[in-house]
Amino acid sequence: MAVIGVTRTSTLNDYESALERTGAEVRILDPAVDSPEAVVRAVNGLMLTGGRDVDPALFGEAPHETTEPAECGRDEYEIALVRAALEAQLPILAICRGVQVMNVAFGGSLVQDIPSMMPGAVTHRIENPRSAIAHDVWIDRSSLLARLLEDRLEGGDSCAVNSRHHQAVNTVAPGFIVTATAPDGVIEAIERPDRPFCLGVQWHPENFWRTGEFSALFEGLVESASRAK
Ligand code: MN
Repeated sequence: MAVIGVTRTSTLNDYESALERTGAEVRILDPAVDSPEAVVRAVNGLMLTGGRDVDPALFGEAPHETTEPAECGRDEYEIALVRAALEAQLPILAICRGVQVMNVAFGGSLVQDIPSMMPGAVTHRIENPRSAIAHDVWIDRSSLLARLLEDRLEGGDSCAVNSRHHQAVNTVAPGFIVTATAPDGVIEAIERPDRPFCLGVQWHPENFWRTGEFSALFEGLVESASRAK
């Protein structure tokens, strides 16, 4: 059975349910105990979860007035973790804050506040219900994301997603490509095309675990993880 390491966050239920449905064993990572080096030896895949804003100092910017204070130690731990996982060739699925952490870890930057910095942007923050559809995403047909969502796309190139973020990927980290965007140009997914499974999405696919719209993302991670070791 594939073991997936999952970063701790305040509401883990939906992440755990989405993974457990695939038959994977979930291992919640404790920064105090689980060193990145030990984690990459112990798990078959990594999932980075949502949470608060990444400290803008980590991509060389002063904080915007809306930027939330960093969660103590979380940025540094997750950056070390995702670097170790990529180095170890582990499959990675990064969600919401996770895609932002991954982009910053490999040298990218973030839009610190979409509403004030991108006038005319669509609404990217609908908090309730958690699976409420906020906007479409346009998906690059040649991407891993499009292959995973093939059934849902039905030959088209867009699908509807939820959205609970005020930040997004800005400059894309070297080696990564953009594979989904919102109608306003906000980056909604990035990938490493030279890896079998290294994908980050800005929306919350885990909130659909009951109805299965995005189960393919978790199944893809776990399948890739099962092959990895
Ligand atoms: Mn969005």
